[in-house]
Amino acid sequence: MKPLLEVKNLEVSFHTYAGEVQAVRGVNFEVKRGEAVAIVGESGCGKSVTAKTIMKLLPTPPAKIKNGSILFNGIDLTTKSEREMQKIRGNEIGMIFQDPMTSLNPTTKIGHQIAEGLLRHKKLSRTLAFEQAIEMLRLVGIPNPEKRATQYPHEFSGGMRQRAMIAIALACQPKLLIADEPTTALDVTIQAQILQLMKSLQEKLNTSIILITHDLGVVAETCEKVVVMYAGQVVETGTVEEIFANPKHPYTKGLLKSVPRLDMDRSRALDPIIGSPPDLLAPPKGCAFYPRCDHAMAVCKKFNPQLEQIGGKQQAACWLYHPMAQAVRGEV
Ligand code: SF4
Ligand code: MG
Repeated sequence: MKPLLEVKNLEVSFHTYAGEVQAVRGVNFEVKRGEAVAIVGESGCGKSVTAKTIMKLLPTPPAKIKNGSILFNGIDLTTKSEREMQKIRGNEIGMIFQDPMTSLNPTTKIGHQIAEGLLRHKKLSRTLAFEQAIEMLRLVGIPNPEKRATQYPHEFSGGMRQRAMIAIALACQPKLLIADEPTTALDVTIQAQILQLMKSLQEKLNTSIILITHDLGVVAETCEKVVVMYAGQVVETGTVEEIFANPKHPYTKGLLKSVPRLDMDRSRALDPIIGSPPDLLAPPKGCAFYPRCDHAMAVCKKFNPQLEQIGGKQQAACWLYHPMAQAVRGEV
């Protein structure tokens, strides 16, 4: 069976006064039906731009899809008009953002906000849509949903608002849910509950998920596959097991070292990755991680390594694992 989503060689740029910012530089990944995929990386690595490009939510200009395709159910979204996208957004693809307060409408009752998508996309009657909205609130674990549906966002706590956002995003039973830092604004306990909720709904509704996060810690429990992005490119991808047990790319290794773990000695400081990502106004010719990498070799500065299969489902873009690694290091 074909994957639900195939992102192929995607390139997205922004035109600014300073020049062209190459935010996404040839990204490839796929999401199977019912699969949860995490896209991880520091802020500015292109993960949100990738997500917004899939939804076609970036203003054009300044954004421009320069190359590539986004096949959703075999249909290329890059060729779709805004009108056609409006039929897909909120219906076949749902989304949740970081801050529910800015995404929820403060002047509309929560129940009506959930019902809105059902009225527009599923052509339900008002009564039926509102009943369905109450059911959605129940599904996302909001107590007393009949009453809650008639309340406004400011009457909800942060965690409740995020649950309401999930209810809105899933009301039409989308095939794909894109969640961009959905729990960043929440405290740790609520964060865990929200992720658990997303996971159980994914299983119940067979929704595919793209979870965008800078925090590898939230990935292990929620996702099956990980896509690691750096400076607008995918530098490593694999199953959660592969990436956590055996990360290959020096950047992934650095990311994992900066994640707090329960079994870790508390007195041991976390290891942040020193330095900052390159300026994407003028991306480097070679490996973008070169200035921050402990393993950098002469070849790394000159040539950008491509993603290569390195066993199992794992791929990495690093000269250390390239099939020509020995030749590259001058060992043959
Ligand atoms: Fe480090 Fe070279 Fe690998 Fe880049 S290609 S991550 S600089 S070893
Ligand atoms: Mg972001």
